[in-house]
Amino acid sequence: MDDLKLADDSTTGRILHSDVALLRQTIRGELVVPNDPGYDQARRVWNGMVDKRPAVVIYCAGSDDVITAVNFARARNLLVAVRAGGHNVAGSSVCDGGVVIDVSRMKSIEVDPVRRIARAQAGLNLGEFDTATQSHGLATTMGVNADTGIAGLTLGAGFGKLGRKYGLTCDNLLAAEIVTAGAVAIFETSGLERAVRDMHAAVKHVAMSPHSYIIAGRLRLRLDPGTMQF
Ligand SMILES: Cc1cc2nc3c(=O)[nH]c(=O)nc-3n(C[C@H](O)[C@H](O)[C@H](O)COP(=O)(O)OP(=O)(O)OC[C@H]3O[C@@H](n4cnc5c(N)ncnc54)[C@H](O)[C@@H]3O)c2cc1C
Repeated sequence: MDDLKLADDSTTGRILHSDVALLRQTIRGELVVPNDPGYDQARRVWNGMVDKRPAVVIYCAGSDDVITAVNFARARNLLVAVRAGGHNVAGSSVCDGGVVIDVSRMKSIEVDPVRRIARAQAGLNLGEFDTATQSHGLATTMGVNADTGIAGLTLGAGFGKLGRKYGLTCDNLLAAEIVTAGAVAIFETSGLERAVRDMHAAVKHVAMSPHSYIIAGRLRLRLDPGTMQF
């Protein structure tokens, strides 16, 4: 069976067409490979100067697909990029020759107005998140651009107009469902301090593994009374 075209980096693995066929049957989401009609759209990120050509883009439908994608990449020693809103200016959420694990179609959100908590999947963008929380008169610190992803923004700290009152977005992160290269860790915590401690433990664990990345599938964020930010 032929290999799919991969980067020339000999340290990365190979993907066979038969692997892709099997993966297509396994995941609930969508798989896009070079020569598929949607390939150019699937490799695009916010910065139009970024021109990378992944071997496979996996649009995950849920955390189960994220786990399948991680296992697929790990078993073949493939380069991985993780994408949510695609706003990283350097293009770090897409890669040449490897696997893009795209969570942007994972968009469910539950708002608990009594406990002032949002449980949001990592594919939501800021506009979608705000629309859901604002219907309850609630908000948390988010950035100024509606189509930035909540996942990349939160993991990179996150600043916005409510920041002076409520802190950075990451200060309001209560819990996260995280897929590592080795396992799924769901941190259901009752306080910010505990969440931060668990998160640090996970990152330390992941840093020691040969595939040192984590993928957030769902975030639990603290909400406060607030008005539309943009
Ligand atoms: C027009 C514009 C306006 C901006 N305004 C603001 C602002 O007001 N405030 C602010 O704080 N920032 C702002 N930013 C910066 C932005 O928050 C960061 O670039 C952020 O990382 C983008 O997140 P994303 O999910 O959209 O991007 P992506 O490119 O998809 O992801 C960014 C990074 O996070 C990683 N990542 C994405 N999803 C996951 C996941 N589920 N699990 C693990 N890793 C993941 C990616 O691999 C990548 O390295 C802005 C950027 C742009 C382009």
